[in-house]
Amino acid sequence: MDLETFRAAVQDPSTWPALTTDFADAGKRVAYYNDGTSTFYAVTETASVIRPLWLLTMARGKAKALKGVAVATNYAASLNDRSASETGIMQLTLDGMPTISKPDPKSLVAPRGSIYRISLGQRLRDALANQFKVPAGVTMVVDDIQSFTASVKGDSGYTTAGTRTVHRLYLAAAYILLHKKHTTSSKDGVVAIVADKTGNIVSWGMKNPLVSCWHGETSALMRLGGSLSAGGCVFSTLKPCKMCAGLIFDASAGGTKAYYGQEDAGSDAQDTKLDKARLGAALDAHKGNGVPRGLVVATPEKKALGETLKAGFEAQKGTGIKNPIEYITSDAAAGLMAATEQALKQKITKYKATGPSNPNTKRAVEYLVEFLRLQGVSPE
Ligand SMILES: [Zn+2]
Repeated sequence: MDLETFRAAVQDPSTWPALTTDFADAGKRVAYYNDGTSTFYAVTETASVIRPLWLLTMARGKAKALKGVAVATNYAASLNDRSASETGIMQLTLDGMPTISKPDPKSLVAPRGSIYRISLGQRLRDALANQFKVPAGVTMVVDDIQSFTASVKGDSGYTTAGTRTVHRLYLAAAYILLHKKHTTSSKDGVVAIVADKTGNIVSWGMKNPLVSCWHGETSALMRLGGSLSAGGCVFSTLKPCKMCAGLIFDASAGGTKAYYGQEDAGSDAQDTKLDKARLGAALDAHKGNGVPRGLVVATPEKKALGETLKAGFEAQKGTGIKNPIEYITSDAAAGLMAATEQALKQKITKYKATGPSNPNTKRAVEYLVEFLRLQGVSPE
């Protein structure tokens, strides 16, 4: 979905109430600013954690769009009151603080020019759902998607239940989508998949090159209206930046974890809210207890994918490639991502065979194949 489609989806003139009414309504969070020709006006529903300041930045579609402008809100976005996602988006795109005031509703200036009302309403969610399809209905893929240590009792006693492999397979699905769906020149090189507690994929998204703060994670979360059920996971091909980490943290009803394949050494992804809360981890080559193992691909060295991508990026830094997203759109990275598809194919072949099998892994493979087929991608 491009920026114009996004704007069309978020504008719904038939539901525009007077600005003063929204400002007086304590049940809503409202913010607006006027750039001289247009009024940008954002409202969130009571249940949403995504505050209007964040939505205003999204809707402008340009980095630093709010820098130096006066923003009026009906809530006090003071330094202490600011949510993790607002803090994140400020750190990522604003490069400074807008002037935020909380005016008396009676003193508000009337909206002028074109009015863009931005919300996480159903039209936006439908548009995103149409672009990023997920399987219908609820499927219990695993008992607990956050588990790395589950075991099952079989004829020969307890065995591990393949839960580490499950995480790697979800991330493999994200890389397969990235490999198949991104267009080389457009810097759309991030895919994020959101799974609920039982592994059911409830949303996914891809970085939108037209909207600077519309990342894989943020578009996946907008489709969910800005809320995440407790106990789920986000699988992102790239480490979530400050904005996305803040949003995942804010949106979660409880402890959503984020796993990622590609490290991002840039300052935008350091010391994020997920890092601080210890809710984010690279699926990398560690083998210790409780630590996720890497998405190993069929390279001669059998290195974890995240490490191989990182090494490839470091090696290409001097050749004009500036960041991990640029690197991921290179031919070298495409070859590595294609290898993840081979890894999933091997699992599909293995789990088609009869005989003892790991139930968690078997269900995850079947489910992910169905999910990928829905996107027009068949790894078989
Ligand atoms: Zn991000």
